[in-house]
Amino acid sequence: MGFEGGCRCGAVRYELEADNLPPTYACHCVDCQTWSGSAFSLHAIVAEDALTISDSGHTFRLPEGQEAMPSEHIGCAACLTRIASRNPALPGFLVLRVGTLDRSSEVAPAMHIWTRQKQPWLTIEEGTPGFEVSPTPQEFAAAIAG
Ligand SMILES: [Zn+2]
Ligand SMILES: [Zn+2]
Repeated sequence: MGFEGGCRCGAVRYELEADNLPPTYACHCVDCQTWSGSAFSLHAIVAEDALTISDSGHTFRLPEGQEAMPSEHIGCAACLTRIASRNPALPGFLVLRVGTLDRSSEVAPAMHIWTRQKQPWLTIEEGTPGFEVSPTPQEFAAAIAG
């Protein structure tokens, strides 16, 4: 069983080996707003060996000093969609940009982080955990598990 996805132009495609759609969280930080060109970004942490990205995937890094955790980003060089990133704090995992899944309409965030910078018009569903900034890894694991 797997889930497919890809970039806006279709040049980069991927397959996620999983029984269910991955638990997803929304990040409302200003960097995510700028990077996504939207109000927040949707992420899921997936096992690196469960995600197969086509060879056309392009790897890049931000200029030094731009990220607290300098990450390797994988995306499409033609349409500039960012698909996943490799964070040194999460060995063996990739952070997937959930909006690139073909079935993204079936995914709802299990938690929200960086709500301190959230757009004021956006209301978070009652009962969904939220964190003003980044949660600790323990808080994160407990909240995403529901
Ligand atoms: Zn593309
Ligand atoms: Zn963010």
